[in-house]
Amino acid sequence: MSESLAEVYRLVGAAAREVHRDPREVRVVVVTKTQPVERLEDVLQAGHRIFGENRVQEAKNKWPRLRQVYPDLELHLVGPLQTNKVKEALKLFDVIETLDRPRLAQILGSESVKSGCSLRCFIQVNSGEEAQKSGILPREFESFFQFCRKDCGLNVIGVMCIPPMDEEPALHFALLTDLARRFGLPEISMGMSADFQLAVRLGATYVRIGTKIFGEREK
Ligand SMILES: *Cc1c(COP(=O)(O)O)cnc(C)c1O
Repeated sequence: MSESLAEVYRLVGAAAREVHRDPREVRVVVVTKTQPVERLEDVLQAGHRIFGENRVQEAKNKWPRLRQVYPDLELHLVGPLQTNKVKEALKLFDVIETLDRPRLAQILGSESVKSGCSLRCFIQVNSGEEAQKSGILPREFESFFQFCRKDCGLNVIGVMCIPPMDEEPALHFALLTDLARRFGLPEISMGMSADFQLAVRLGATYVRIGTKIFGEREK
């Protein structure tokens, strides 16, 4: 497993250098959903510290104990967040990548003020305008971004997208990078096992990788 992690690092570095980017600008979020804690040890031992989970409950069962051993962890939520789980999410995660609707922004804002935590958020963009997918439509991005910052007081530092399954991802990656540039956002989370090298060439600062490190997940 740490070998496949090393391979991912190598491919990320090569893709970055191809477009004259500093490879250190790109970080790997190792997505550990469905993986039991035993399978994470290798990656942690290898020194990796940035992880992603898609469910609050699953993260709660796995990460608090690991955080005691590895206090420098950076845990990202990469799945949808229900408003009744916000309080718990604030205790568990350093970064919410899936800020995707006004009601969630309001509750995240008020709860993070209450708990005094400096949560970092990425706005999830529904770049393919898919009906079943969460995220903000590109044309609504500006007003949502201002709402999050000014009305909710959220620390929005980036954007995230999951391109449609059946489309060329490059267009979606380019759209996301363009949004980040226009609004001065430093972080761009895009690219998964199948397309992370392309995402790095098009500007990703975080890629989210599960399968390429752990193998296919059990259904
Ligand atoms: C599961 C998941 C990933 C990782 O996908 P792989 O194809 O296994 O690398 C990345 N991002 C999100 C949002 C996910 O849910």
